Amino acid sequence: MSNTLSLPRRLGHVARMIAAFAGPPVMRWSPRPTLPATPRPTAHDLGQGITLWRLPVGLVRIRNRHRALPPELAGVDDKLRFPVMMSDRQITGWLDCTAWLIDHPERRILIDTGESAAFGTPAYFGDAAKRMGAVYPKIIDATAAAGNDLPAMITATGHALTDIDLCVLTHTHSDHIGNLDVLPRTTRLLVSPEELVPAARSGRLLAKLPQDGRLHQTAWRGAQGAFGVVMPLTERGDIFVIPTPGHTAGHQSVVIDLGDRRIILAGDAAFDDSQVADNVIPGIVEQRAATLATYDMLRRAGLEKPGLTLFTHDPANAAKLARFTQGIVPTAS
Ligand SMILES: [Zn+2]
Repeated sequence: MSNTLSLPRRLGHVARMIAAFAGPPVMRWSPRPTLPATPRPTAHDLGQGITLWRLPVGLVRIRNRHRALPPELAGVDDKLRFPVMMSDRQITGWLDCTAWLIDHPERRILIDTGESAAFGTPAYFGDAAKRMGAVYPKIIDATAAAGNDLPAMITATGHALTDIDLCVLTHTHSDHIGNLDVLPRTTRLLVSPEELVPAARSGRLLAKLPQDGRLHQTAWRGAQGAFGVVMPLTERGDIFVIPTPGHTAGHQSVVIDLGDRRIILAGDAAFDDSQVADNVIPGIVEQRAATLATYDMLRRAGLEKPGLTLFTHDPANAAKLARFTQGIVPTAS
């Protein structure tokens, strides 16, 4: 389906987007609901010496169309999708921003860093990302409840931040890199080379990435079934990075391969399983075609080997993992 909106409707979306950027930040026109009680991290024993920690770090509220476009607007072209999303005045409730800690016999790997209570402050965006700092709070609302920060969550796992030698960033939106500044200098950061190519209106906060030698680019190699290229992160080869573009051009995910089943930590490749199953397009995606190709890849991966795909903002994560560790594997969607 291609864009079928009339010119007046297109102009209407653009005008409402301009008004949204000229107006107050989301938290002022949509008063914040009560912050939820501090969520606790949950540990999931996957066997083979691997524990996966679910770390709810920070909270985000987004427009309903940011999460999913209604069917009649799902086909708009890549340039019009952002105005269509920004035209929406309906907001979700608080959503978790999930970071993941893989405690593997060889190493501790953090996936994403969640969001921070400092979101929206000048210090958070800094001088380099100042311009983005002016627009971001018009697009989303974000914060962290007391105790809902990354250091507290890592402490609750029994690890120290210095135990984490690698942090894989699925992409560079604020709710995934919001706590980079609390990571020690000894933690290497892994970002895909495609993510580092600047693109206008992508919302990627490349200016917030440290330039002190910690940042490394994913080195794609090999070919592995539905995934295509991968980058192994362990000698055993059971943890690896895969490209999952669409949400951003350089979005990447992490696979935990347990032999007979696997878990894909899929960041914002979608908001939940039903979007992948039904080709539902979020308003925020950079590239619609790449998003659909990633959905197709995830469905094919599910046919290759049973498993679980987990998304950053899916409230069902804890329940999905609980069923998985009891040996209950969902059928491929
Ligand atoms: Zn996100």
